[in-house]
Amino acid sequence: MRALRRLNVHPVLPEALSPLATLARNLRWSWHTETQELFRSVDPQLWEAAGHDPLRLLAQVDPARLQVLAEDRRFVRQVSLREADLAEYLSADLWFQRHAAENPAAPAAIGYFSAEFGVSDVLPQYSGGLGILAGDHLKAASDLGVPIVGVGLLYRHGYFRQSLDAGGWQQERYPLLDPSAMPLTLLTADGSPVTVEVPLHGRTLQAQIWVAQVGRVPLLMLDSDIEANSETDRHVTDRLYGGGADHRLAQEVLLGIGGVRALRAWCRVSGHPAPEVYHANEGHAGFLGLERIREQMAAGHDFDSALELTRTGNVFTTHTPVPAGIDRFDRAMVESQFADFAPLPLERVLALGAEDYEGGDPSRFNMAVMGFRLGQRANGVSRLHGEVSREMFSGLWPGFDTTEVPIGSITNGVHHPTWVHPALLKLLELPAGEEEMAPDGYDWDALQHVDADTIWTMKRRMRADLVTMARQRLSASVRQRGLPGGTEWISRALDPGVLTLGFARRGASYKRLTLMLRDPERLIRLLNHPTTPIQIVVAGKAHPADDTGKSLIQQMVRFADREDVRERLVFLPDYDISMARLLYPGCDVWMNNPLRPFEACGTSGMKAALNGAANLSIRDGWWDEWSDPRCGWDIPSAESIADPDQRDAAEAETLYSIIENQVVPRFYDRDVNGVPQGWVRLIRDTISVLGPKVLASRMVRDYVTGLYDPAAVAARGLDGEQAEALAAWKRRVRAGWPQVKVLHAESSGGQSVEVGRPLSFTAQVHLGELSPEDVEVQVVTGDLDGDDELRNITSRAFTSCSDLGDGTWRYAAELPVRQTGSRGFTVRVVPSHPRLSVAAELGLATLPDH
Ligand SMILES: *Cc1c(COP(=O)(O)O)cnc(C)c1O
Repeated sequence: MRALRRLNVHPVLPEALSPLATLARNLRWSWHTETQELFRSVDPQLWEAAGHDPLRLLAQVDPARLQVLAEDRRFVRQVSLREADLAEYLSADLWFQRHAAENPAAPAAIGYFSAEFGVSDVLPQYSGGLGILAGDHLKAASDLGVPIVGVGLLYRHGYFRQSLDAGGWQQERYPLLDPSAMPLTLLTADGSPVTVEVPLHGRTLQAQIWVAQVGRVPLLMLDSDIEANSETDRHVTDRLYGGGADHRLAQEVLLGIGGVRALRAWCRVSGHPAPEVYHANEGHAGFLGLERIREQMAAGHDFDSALELTRTGNVFTTHTPVPAGIDRFDRAMVESQFADFAPLPLERVLALGAEDYEGGDPSRFNMAVMGFRLGQRANGVSRLHGEVSREMFSGLWPGFDTTEVPIGSITNGVHHPTWVHPALLKLLELPAGEEEMAPDGYDWDALQHVDADTIWTMKRRMRADLVTMARQRLSASVRQRGLPGGTEWISRALDPGVLTLGFARRGASYKRLTLMLRDPERLIRLLNHPTTPIQIVVAGKAHPADDTGKSLIQQMVRFADREDVRERLVFLPDYDISMARLLYPGCDVWMNNPLRPFEACGTSGMKAALNGAANLSIRDGWWDEWSDPRCGWDIPSAESIADPDQRDAAEAETLYSIIENQVVPRFYDRDVNGVPQGWVRLIRDTISVLGPKVLASRMVRDYVTGLYDPAAVAARGLDGEQAEALAAWKRRVRAGWPQVKVLHAESSGGQSVEVGRPLSFTAQVHLGELSPEDVEVQVVTGDLDGDDELRNITSRAFTSCSDLGDGTWRYAAELPVRQTGSRGFTVRVVPSHPRLSVAAELGLATLPDH
């Protein structure tokens, strides 16, 4: 039956319990165990039934129960304690306040834009890793006191909920989310909702702004589902990654352009200082740069100066090394969208996303390319991903070595208070008073002093929590699928004493969900071994349009449906944060077998490691950087095998044999008390070694010191006049560059030279209209590969120059050769200006002709 009207019925809390509403509306409860315990104690049964959602709990709790609690002095005292604790958390001086006191460079505020945010399942606005990362970024920023403001969209149906049909094919549901039942506050001014407008193909799209409070960090979410919009436009924010390209473009226009406007409105209403740094988390948010340029032009700057003023404060993070994963639009669509985005000249907008380099497609508008052009600072999300990205986008910086491509890396991290099992977190606590000293509040070496028995008992409890959750989900799924036969086997599915392996991630093909099914008989032997069995918990969603991903899931589900398998290998539908939080701690081993190097970072293995699970992984993403035999096993990547099927076969073979010969024996090697001392050492070492590295707080500090601070300095250090001068200099250098030539270059001595001996280099360079102040002429040395290409280069500037007239200059330098072996040298001219962050910034370089 269809409802006539939606009513929002709010609970009335007795006066003494009114702080519960405040606690429920700040998402900090989602990573604060004591606050969760407080809500649980309101009504433990209802807490479970309400899916651990405080607002739902308060909406449904019996008023009589609230009356009883209001008169329970101990409960009321707990409520005020938690309220005081939140107030203290919100106002305390934290890491960033100390950092800013010593670093006047630190920005007053940072805008962090992302298409998805996975903060909590009560706000399901994420599809997978990217969103969870953004959520963890905000939470860690909150814990550190970093003045970030999140900007995203509020999708009325979020991402889909996954179930399975009887044949194991993924089904998608899109339940409607009710903002008034979520911890969101509508942004209002003088009692009416604040709205922003963005131009959409000549129409005007409006959106209202919801604010979620993530600890200290506000998260602004734009929502187009309002009456002022046409029916079609109301659906712009209906689903995350839902529709076709048109729909996605509309969402990205709203996120980027509307997002900046929402940020301005929110600053006006709240009195918060304007951000000095704008961080685009992946290409989706890239249009924010266009809006910032428009603002600068509205203030009277020309396009070029406005671009300079925008670039300095923009940070861009790229998240995928899979070329098909890069966000691109038909150029014609972008052309129609920005035909009238006055005063920005259309051809300049189009040029920002043009793939005008070797191998590029001129019919495409590339959001990542625009991200690099609009952001003076850019990064990938692990060391390896940084390298791959420099290679992948090197076409934007011709004439430079890939090592010089200005894309750095900051390795992702995960928010430990969210992801570490509460029992383990308790053991890692520092003695009172010492938390202040440790930057992340916990002692990652604590387990080294906890006896093996205690650790092993705790691990069993974590596994038991996973088993309980898995059986509940399994039984719901089996009923819903209408599978024939009984369900009593479910009570035997999984065993808290058995070696447990986990594999959960999006159904993207490069992640190779079904690699473990390569030799089914061998896997079944491992699962059903009479004395040393293993069990595997699998989960993951495929994008609704990805039939390949869905068929991988189906293969897995059908395998898990086999009677001789189902008690040892389970597929749990609807992978989400609440499942993940029990899954990682319950696993002994986390499996990860992507096709290297397509996993940009991967964070699930980090969450597993923080819970003492060993990683069994291809050396890809973060594991390439921090792989350590004390914390797990490498599956060597068989990249040298060109045939994909043979490569899979080789990597699957290693996967099985590591499990069989290394993982299983170590897990089942017990002392007289039944404790696997060797395995407990693995748990201790995993947490000691990886604990401090894989944290989101480490990541956010790296962003602050490595990117946000320098961006703020650059932005503050460039006023309108300087921007104009810089833009004019760039125009002059670009115009004059075709005349720049290296006419002649040589070095003293013969073919054979002694290491450390200074060599003299000379070069004749034609600079045309440009002067020696505009350029740096460099001696570039490096190793020579077989094709006479220079590798691992170092560049050093020539020290003196003399005028030969007619725009020609003679450069000379005495430089020692520092490395032995087969070395080569050449001469290169690059632009030089104190405001360039790196010499490669303009993508201009001239080498000798030959
Ligand atoms: C951590 C997490 C992911 C991302 O995992 P990857 O290893 O990056 O693939 C996806 N979904 C959920 C629910 C997660 O918690």
